[in-house]
Amino acid sequence: MIIEPKIRGFICTTAHPVGCATNVQRQIDHVVVKGPIPSARRRVLVLGCSTGYGLASRVVTTFGSDADTVGVSFEKPPAENKTASAGWYNNRAFEQRARAAGRIAVTVEGDAFSDAIKAETIEVVRRNLGQVDLVVYSLASPVRTDPRTGETYRSAIKPYGAAVKAKTLNTATGEVSQIEIEPATEEEAQATVKVMGGEDWELWISALADAGVLADGFTTLNYTYLGSELTWPIYHKGTLGVAKADLDRAAGAIRARFGAESAYVVALKAVVTQASSAIPVVPLYGTLLLKVMAEMGVSEGCIEQIDRLFRTKLADPALDDAHRIRVDDWELSKTVQDEMARRWPLLSTETLPHLADLGKYREEFLKLFGFGLGGVDYGADVDPREV
Ligand code: NAD
Repeated sequence: MIIEPKIRGFICTTAHPVGCATNVQRQIDHVVVKGPIPSARRRVLVLGCSTGYGLASRVVTTFGSDADTVGVSFEKPPAENKTASAGWYNNRAFEQRARAAGRIAVTVEGDAFSDAIKAETIEVVRRNLGQVDLVVYSLASPVRTDPRTGETYRSAIKPYGAAVKAKTLNTATGEVSQIEIEPATEEEAQATVKVMGGEDWELWISALADAGVLADGFTTLNYTYLGSELTWPIYHKGTLGVAKADLDRAAGAIRARFGAESAYVVALKAVVTQASSAIPVVPLYGTLLLKVMAEMGVSEGCIEQIDRLFRTKLADPALDDAHRIRVDDWELSKTVQDEMARRWPLLSTETLPHLADLGKYREEFLKLFGFGLGGVDYGADVDPREV
């Protein structure tokens, strides 16, 4: 079949296998060209390994530090006339390339929140890696079933405490409009903490420790977004921020049990991923950030951020006052944020093409699904099951 993008709301329901493989290869090239990253963390478990920051973490550890990896993700396989999800193709492309480089790369597909997938992953780790030195937690999901109670929680991406009036962008039409978003109820806020807070991270670390597959001196990382005042009303001070604050609590609990250097929350920059495109206000901020950071020569996507984390930050981490590692330093620098704050009030449907870069945002979004990459023949007849 000829595979074309089919966009529905915040997602693209098709993915291109060759484009996804090209994407993975470009990430690998980025790391290889920069050279090795000496590290003793050579047995790595990545939870949420198929796309975004998790995939970049798997690529950087494997191709920068010769790590063997087990990954966990929740992706859809292909069918006869239906493409797989992009993450499924990314996983296959990654495994092929990692194995060709002599590395172990095994992926577990299923719900990482469940006890069954935790147990299966522990067995896969035991068989393939023995133990792990590093656990990267990079899950982003709108829903989680608590394995203890069977209750299913859905996150609500809303302001917390009071309604918020904000500018937002329809990325399909380019229209900038004012929206008013009602605050979350306490129940919605707590449900968001259940889904995106630290509870599942702690359950994973406990399960791995109890099974004896965490190496002495292991490290675990969990990714957060803090952002600037422009997005605080909807993000940092909203329900997602409440959930992310719970990561700091969980990191403290893991450190109390396993030692001062066992767990870090890492603050990363805003990038275009499947998870971030669904958050109100964030795509408008993202289109502006793409333009401003490019103009200042400090553009970064997932692979650049994670490469910088492992290459320059992790060996001897400088921590902020909440014990986090900061890789959002360029996004939050005074120069970038002053320019963001100057342009923000000027943003409208008419000024957007001059002040921000919606074209680049759309390009980045389509690339997540393997579309719009140079060197890929999109007119070719492709079997979606063949990778
Ligand atoms: P993403 O949507 O690209 O990736 C999410 C991953 O989680 C995928 O591998 C997916 O398969 C997996 N996943 C989702 N539900 C699952 C489940 N039930 N079981 C197993 N796997 C599951 O997301 P992302 O943007 O890379 O986000 C990863 C982390 O980085 C999140 O904690 C996010 O808050 C954080 N972060 C993102 C940004 C950003 O701008 N995107 C910025 C800073 C921090």
